[in-house]
Amino acid sequence: MSSLAPLPLSTQVTVLRGLGPARAAALQEAGIHTLGDLLMHLPYRYVDRGSIVPLGELEMRGFEPGLEDREIITVLGQVHDVRQTLTRIQRMALTEVLLNDGTGTLKLVFFNQPYLGRSLKIGDRLLAFGPLLEGRHGSEMRGPQIEMMGRAGNGNSKGDGGEIWVRRFLPLYRKMGPISSLVRKKLVEEALLRAHPPEEWLPPELCKHLPDTLSALRLLHQPPDESDGRLLNLRETPAHERLAMEELFAFALGVELRRAGRMKRRGMVVRTTPDLRERLKSFLPFHLTAAQRKAFKEIVDDLTSGHVMHRLLQGDVGSGKTLVAFLSMAMVAETGGQGVLLAPTEVLARQHASTFQRLLGDEAHRLQLLLGPMKAAEKREAMARIASGEARYLVGTHALFQEAVKFSDLRLVVVDEQHRFGVKQREALKQKSGDPHWLVMSATPIPRSLALSLFGDLDQSVLDELPPGRQPVSTRLLDTDSSERAWTLIEKELRSGRQAFVVSPAIDPTDETKVKLRDIQAMESLIRARFPGLDLEVVHGRLKPDDMAARMNRFVRGDAKLLLATTVIEVGVDVPNATVMVVDHAERFGLSQLHQLRGRVGRGVDHSFFMMISGVETERLHALVETQDGFKIAQKDLEIRGPGEFFGTRQAGLPQFQVADLVRDRKLLQNCREAAAKAVAEGLNEAQKDWLQREQERLKLAEVS
Ligand code: ADP
Ligand code: MG
Repeated sequence: MSSLAPLPLSTQVTVLRGLGPARAAALQEAGIHTLGDLLMHLPYRYVDRGSIVPLGELEMRGFEPGLEDREIITVLGQVHDVRQTLTRIQRMALTEVLLNDGTGTLKLVFFNQPYLGRSLKIGDRLLAFGPLLEGRHGSEMRGPQIEMMGRAGNGNSKGDGGEIWVRRFLPLYRKMGPISSLVRKKLVEEALLRAHPPEEWLPPELCKHLPDTLSALRLLHQPPDESDGRLLNLRETPAHERLAMEELFAFALGVELRRAGRMKRRGMVVRTTPDLRERLKSFLPFHLTAAQRKAFKEIVDDLTSGHVMHRLLQGDVGSGKTLVAFLSMAMVAETGGQGVLLAPTEVLARQHASTFQRLLGDEAHRLQLLLGPMKAAEKREAMARIASGEARYLVGTHALFQEAVKFSDLRLVVVDEQHRFGVKQREALKQKSGDPHWLVMSATPIPRSLALSLFGDLDQSVLDELPPGRQPVSTRLLDTDSSERAWTLIEKELRSGRQAFVVSPAIDPTDETKVKLRDIQAMESLIRARFPGLDLEVVHGRLKPDDMAARMNRFVRGDAKLLLATTVIEVGVDVPNATVMVVDHAERFGLSQLHQLRGRVGRGVDHSFFMMISGVETERLHALVETQDGFKIAQKDLEIRGPGEFFGTRQAGLPQFQVADLVRDRKLLQNCREAAAKAVAEGLNEAQKDWLQREQERLKLAEVS
């Protein structure tokens, strides 16, 4: 019996008796190593026995259009017949399964899953859920999700659905290799039986109203009959909150510890003098906005403080982040150090370099551009100028760090970011060049609450004001039939000497969407036919960098009148004479991305226009017509797409939460941050240290900024 002594959650899953080598390997592959890992993977759904509809009742109800439409129905029955055919038109595999539960039958229809026809046997017991639709011979369920409840021939009493489903709620788990939902349920049962409760490690103010860890896990893997099924499926029970709180508190602690560590490091002090102030002022082509002045003051305070600056500079498109970045770089460059600006693309790096060149005037020889594909001799010369300290304003892409660049005295790194610069990269840089200050400019405005949580160890400056004289960009949403209005507008603007953008979505030829898409070639033909003799440039991601830059430059100089592009133009181009942008298939873009695109027009004094062509998703796109506030648009975008998509999943280095959700749980996170600051200030206890270490690994927190 000693093997059944209570086990800590950190015990390896291999102690479980139901686990052979194949299953252990599958768990391993899914990142499940310990009992705790196993238990933190919650059911993806709970089926309430009471919600199962008898098939006879379905037959009687028949199909009521409107009412049944899209409603998800759960049924349970035995496979009566399996038939494999091809669809008539697209020759797709079609599997039809007849389900019978003793009261009636229902047809389940599966597309493109030919293996089902081979694996399902007459007599199998299946749980199925999906929408009920009107088929040619009465109602049917199309593309349902299914769970195998018992194999044919096993009899009803031998470990099949009848035995496993003893409570009101049946938890369903994602299948992992050879581990079916029902096998997982048994592993989880054993783990729950043998695990002993961990020591409480959350501060009391966070968890006093919540169940303890082990109780929460029990409530979620074996919901008692009196549970609220709706809240379970929404993942909003107190038990969920408990587990989310643990993840968020671990995250907040990690961030807080890093921040505390940074505050202990000695930063390079940049001294300001009246001379320096005068000098910086002499570079400025216009008065700073109040927001720019405030942000710059915050940066100056950091640079002179003796701490290492880690600051996030946020602002809507066109709010003038570049100028603030430039001034910060000038602070260090004009006091003898070096500052580097990293851009996400070469187009943007070149543009920043030419902006800086203009601002620097006579001092332009202090600037050095460094790009990956520069010629060897040119690159050598650039590196020599950087190493000698002759060049102090450095601009480039991330290549700047991949190459064997030696800095003479690097004091500030500005990241104009598309994707986040990982902790590892920052560490590498610290090794290489002392401990420079960091200024991160976010390309997309991030709702403040989320920025606080995501960039928790960065201080924030927000540019919440646009430079004077900006007019709102007139924004329209056109359905495909009225797209002629867009071309008429372009014609009018071109005739009065302005320039125009047309944006086509980048289309992957293997993309299988239902909507027929017009690609950039088709758009080019359309434009050439509509505007014969027009000087047009076309740019897209597959061009060589030199070619791309040359084409862009023709547009920037005003030689080309219309630029047809995929989203490569999103981040950079500043062409004040461009007054109209038309985006085709606007539904293919995120709201923030569209807002970012819109920011390419309305940069001059003339009234500008932004036209979206789209036949679908008009409600979502309408948000752009309604507001020009990038923060509001970002909030909406985030709610619709979730943080993963919003930030571009993996690159973003978001923590890998199982239960917590950064958008939904932002209030919880706020509480956790406050509690974490307090806990770090007071010193962590042993339970917290242990636990934190495990969570850091599980949630991959170490890679989050
Ligand atoms: P973003 O924040 O999108 O990077 P930019 O830095 O590109 O914005 O600035 C947008 C435009 O506003 C540029 O053309 C820039 O020259 C101009 N600009 C920036 N600051 C000011 C200011 N204080 N007054 C007037 N124009 C400004
Ligand atoms: Mg910018």
